[in-house]
Amino acid sequence: MKRATLDVFHQGEQVSTQTFSIQNTKATCTQCKTFGSLEIVYGRFNTSSALEEEFGKIVLSCPECDTWMNGILHQSWSNQETLEVIEINGSEKEAIMDEEILKISPEFPEIFNEAREMERQGFKNAGIVYRKSLEYLIKDYAISKAPSESGKIKSSPLAAVIKQHISLELLRECAEGATWLGNDETHYQRKHESMDIEDLKKLINLTIHVILAEVYAVMYKDRMR
Ligand SMILES: [Zn+2]
Repeated sequence: MKRATLDVFHQGEQVSTQTFSIQNTKATCTQCKTFGSLEIVYGRFNTSSALEEEFGKIVLSCPECDTWMNGILHQSWSNQETLEVIEINGSEKEAIMDEEILKISPEFPEIFNEAREMERQGFKNAGIVYRKSLEYLIKDYAISKAPSESGKIKSSPLAAVIKQHISLELLRECAEGATWLGNDETHYQRKHESMDIEDLKKLINLTIHVILAEVYAVMYKDRMR
């Protein structure tokens, strides 16, 4: 999370400046693909009527290759002083990871984005890299729940980790589904002919969302105590 002072606009005119926390700036540079080092150059936020969605714009730069990128900001549902980057240069939201996911699995977003880039370039094996990203995400999540069993979790097959360590039923179902499809990507013959890489991506995204739902629910439960 970074702090930045943005120009605040109302109905097309600048009315003030305000300091916000900006989430999800750890993204991949659209030019050189370096992960996690984007800097905030400029941002503006539009206040609007209560019925409209509140959006802002942000300009990010990559210190590695000096490329500037445009992002879209959205006010966090949990905190008015927090803005989330939800899109960079028109890329889909899934490429930008929530910081809570980065905390659980620091390597997952980079591997996931690597798979996206392979897929974009037409590599057939992108599915195998999606499968690898899923393994990192699930195992790191399991380790976050049982840190003392880290060694065993890392060396166990993914399916066994899901069975033994994922107690949240909805998460177990998503993760199992994604694992089956992911395994298909590594096999000579597919078992799930009707499912493809799009389904695998959807299941990985569902897995991310279920993990985040749990993280945020626990966070709020603690806060309300
Ligand atoms: Zn770059």
